[in-house]
Amino acid sequence: KLYNQVQDLKGNIRVYCRVRPLHGQVRGFGSVEHLDEGSITITTPSKYGKEGKKSFTFNRVFGPSASQEEVFSDTQPLIRSVLDGFNVCIFAYGQTGSGKTHTMSGPDVLTPETMGVNYRALNDLFLISEQRKDIFLYDVSVQMIEIYNEQVRDLLATDGLNKRLEIRNSSQSGLNVPDANLVTVTSTSDVINLMNLGQKNRAVGSTAMNDRSSRSHSCLTVHVQGRDLASGAVLRGCMHLVDLAGSERVDKSEAVGERLKEAQHINKSLSALGDVIASLAQKNSHVPYRNSKLTQLLQDSLGGQAKTLMFVHISPEYDAIGETLSTLKFAERVS
Ligand code: ADP
Ligand code: MG
Repeated sequence: KLYNQVQDLKGNIRVYCRVRPLHGQVRGFGSVEHLDEGSITITTPSKYGKEGKKSFTFNRVFGPSASQEEVFSDTQPLIRSVLDGFNVCIFAYGQTGSGKTHTMSGPDVLTPETMGVNYRALNDLFLISEQRKDIFLYDVSVQMIEIYNEQVRDLLATDGLNKRLEIRNSSQSGLNVPDANLVTVTSTSDVINLMNLGQKNRAVGSTAMNDRSSRSHSCLTVHVQGRDLASGAVLRGCMHLVDLAGSERVDKSEAVGERLKEAQHINKSLSALGDVIASLAQKNSHVPYRNSKLTQLLQDSLGGQAKTLMFVHISPEYDAIGETLSTLKFAERVS
């Protein structure tokens, strides 16, 4: 049922909400009063206005017990559309610790059950391209980049890791970051190896106290080229899988120096993303792509015929309620 809805929509934006389990507990919902397939109700303490409940609706809501497979199953139609030549963006939004990396990559120990959207998406790409092998010859390649303080870095670089890369739109090849390493992949194990390299490179510059990965956006871009074996015509599709920087507000009185600069960059790029998606959702004629590196990078894949899926993540702890409400408000704005 959901599959068809996704496929029927063109230039569509869908927003899914995922609530992770309370830490150390399988049961219990913390600030989440109620959730069902399409809505979530939050208990708001008096500190945030009148004490009471606030409800939000989404295309889909996944509770703490939703499996990785379940979360991915509603995403599958998007994978098919990449092979049909559409562009797709899948985002993970939420405060640090809310489960973005869990959704996109998975936990530290990867098994077929725990694998996240990135692996499942590529798995599906390989499966479907195999099914179509008498009709299309597909070529799949990936890039992995990081945006940190409005600078673009290649996470698959084998040398010159800190080289700043330029974003170019309108390139014939369909590559927006032509200087980032582009690696052809033919199997899920290729992808796992590359993602491990990317993760290792992403950790450079981080310390235990200073986890840079939560303050940068990482983007796995999958380029698909399909040649119609009968006509020789070539189609191109592209999918961006984006693990966004943590959306938490930084207390301006506390952050200084580097930390303040990072916070300002994150704030700016997440609001730029929100502005772009909101103006697409409202079908505005002007879409402000130029306001951040993130939206420049994704320009070809946001709007038009492209399909966007935003996973917003909720930490159900009571003391996260402030961030939970601001996450839900962001989600409300883009849906
Ligand atoms: P983020 O990337 O948003 O900072 P993580 O994905 O690292 O958050 O999640 C924080 C912690 O919570 C990790 O230990 C992760 O394994 C765990 N976690 C997140 N989401 C889930 C989930 N749906 N089920 C079980 N554990 C989860
Ligand atoms: Mg993370």
